Amino acid sequence: MVSTTNSLKINVVTIPEDGLNLVFSEGGKWFDACFNEDEKPDFSLNKLDVNCHIIKTSGTVFIKGKFSATININCSRCLEEAKLPLDANFDYTLIPEKPQVKEDLELKKEELEISYYHGDFIDLTPIICEQIILQVPIKVLCHPECKGLCPQCGTNLNDSSCDCTSGNVDSRMAALKNFKINN
Ligand SMILES: [Zn+2]
Ligand SMILES: [Zn+2]
Repeated sequence: MVSTTNSLKINVVTIPEDGLNLVFSEGGKWFDACFNEDEKPDFSLNKLDVNCHIIKTSGTVFIKGKFSATININCSRCLEEAKLPLDANFDYTLIPEKPQVKEDLELKKEELEISYYHGDFIDLTPIICEQIILQVPIKVLCHPECKGLCPQCGTNLNDSSCDCTSGNVDSRMAALKNFKINN
């Protein structure tokens, strides 16, 4: 039986030889508390489930994990709140911080996901938060065919229509309309 924990603070010393399973579930409050007021992300977390396997070989800690989460984020087109599922696998290697080793590993660090830990404890909170943020796409749509907002009056074109759309032709279309072939 592999031991299981539900704490994101891992005591490196007590990681058993056959590894440690971490099962962790949290919600929005936990995620909010991970950030300072001025660095809060522009989305909120609904639900998070993390599953990791942690092993240790002479001080080096390997973390292999996956998470699934749901976030609330504003649609890039209509600005309404959208629910977005996120799923990802991640791998981390953590080595104890020793200044003399640092230089030798400088190159490898670029290629591999190597981080350092200080003392006997590893807090997985920043690692998990970073993984969530990495998975959030730059452009989020509430629906693949979201019609967005009317550029003139701001009406949400998913729920209603406005008069500006029918009368005015899109400026790019207008340019095409006036285009004459001189031949
Ligand atoms: Zn939308
Ligand atoms: Zn309009």
